[in-house]
Amino acid sequence: MEFRLTEEQKMVQETIRQFVKEELIPLEDEVLKNEREGGRPSLPPEKVKELQLKAKEMGFWGIDTPEAYGGVDFDLMMLAIVLMELAKTFVPFTFGGSADHILYYANEEQKKRYLIPTINGEKKSCFAMTELNDGSHKPNIQMLAVKDGNEWVLRGEKTWITDGHEADFVMVIAVTDKEAYEKTGRDGVTCFIVDREMGWTSKIVPTMREGNPTSLVFDHVRVPEENILGDVHEGYNLGLESVSFARWIASVRAVGAAEHLLQMAIDYSKERETVSKSMVEHEAMQQMMANYAGDIEAAKRSVLNAAFTLDKEGDNKHVASLVKLFEANMGNYVVDSVLQIYGDIYTKELPMDRWYREARLWRIYEGTDENQHTIIARNLVEQQVKIGQYV
Ligand SMILES: Cc1cc2nc3c(=O)[nH]c(=O)nc-3n(C[C@H](O)[C@H](O)[C@H](O)COP(=O)(O)OP(=O)(O)OC[C@H]3O[C@@H](n4cnc5c(N)ncnc54)[C@H](O)[C@@H]3O)c2cc1C
Repeated sequence: MEFRLTEEQKMVQETIRQFVKEELIPLEDEVLKNEREGGRPSLPPEKVKELQLKAKEMGFWGIDTPEAYGGVDFDLMMLAIVLMELAKTFVPFTFGGSADHILYYANEEQKKRYLIPTINGEKKSCFAMTELNDGSHKPNIQMLAVKDGNEWVLRGEKTWITDGHEADFVMVIAVTDKEAYEKTGRDGVTCFIVDREMGWTSKIVPTMREGNPTSLVFDHVRVPEENILGDVHEGYNLGLESVSFARWIASVRAVGAAEHLLQMAIDYSKERETVSKSMVEHEAMQQMMANYAGDIEAAKRSVLNAAFTLDKEGDNKHVASLVKLFEANMGNYVVDSVLQIYGDIYTKELPMDRWYREARLWRIYEGTDENQHTIIARNLVEQQVKIGQYV
């Protein structure tokens, strides 16, 4: 077992670290200003494109895209290293040349129409599973798709859909066999690729932070049969796979952000004097910093171990749930304590409120803490997984 980054991994880490420091962190004020003035807490699309092209020149294009599609196809270990560095700013940025993983289940014709244009940045997608009364604890999908000749007619509403307002097409999960779905809670649902022109509409849901979630309304939207992604009635696993990967990504982000926040607190404490000595000299401060440094170290190792496991074994929902639960909570108590260290700098002068709101979301989206408790406990009780199996 090797616990050190390779020379190549260190080089990539350092390159992204510089990119974040020089290109993204200077844009934090602009993102905050947009948000405070009621706009979208994001960068203008043309700015994102400019940054993506700059990153492309440095070799960062399609970081999770197979080489056959023009990407560099990093393994998950390298992906974790890159995404942890990107998480050291709240400026929303993703490298170009990527597409949602489940789009690779598309057939050749669908790949030409959806996957390739998405990788090339000509089309934008979103993924829609959640509904207002459909929780991660109890599947209760109401959206129905009814077959009519060579088409399916979709009716229902999805909510909390990231990027739904910008997307050109959605991969949406609907019930296609009500009886099977009611019996099992997972069979009888299908994933459809639906172009916006086919008739669905989107409305922004105002939230406490970015993520750009929206509600999507499907009012008898007709979708040709050839737009089924994967197999008919078998869409649930596609949905789960998408969520499971996203859980791991959320945990990686929490670790990178926590490292950044702790560094912010250390830098601040070195400058600030209380009771005529520097804050770092106070024992209580030292204790806090030492404890969090240890927690972050443990969290980082678990997230990299998860990357190793997922690389070797493919999709592993138990590991994804474990790290999502642990890192999201670690990130939350780190952000809370860093705010405590800043003390009376409880102002908008610092981006702490922004970090606070983002961190709080980690415990909610891609499956809540409670949902992860249920999954992890069930796997252990039913002995599908043994304690310590993955190290
Ligand atoms: C910013 C944002 C972006 C999102 N993007 C997307 C997206 O792109 N696509 C998509 O499909 N979804 C998306 N979602 C939806 C998201 O994944 C879910 O809304 C989230 O996981 C909340 O889970 P829930 O639906 O289970 O909560 P609810 O079912 O509304 O539950 C409410 C609370 O009760 C708890 N609870 C419910 N039942 C139980 C139980 N049996 N035991 C213990 N506790 C229980 C839950 O844990 C939760 O805390 C997004 C959400 C947000 C906030």
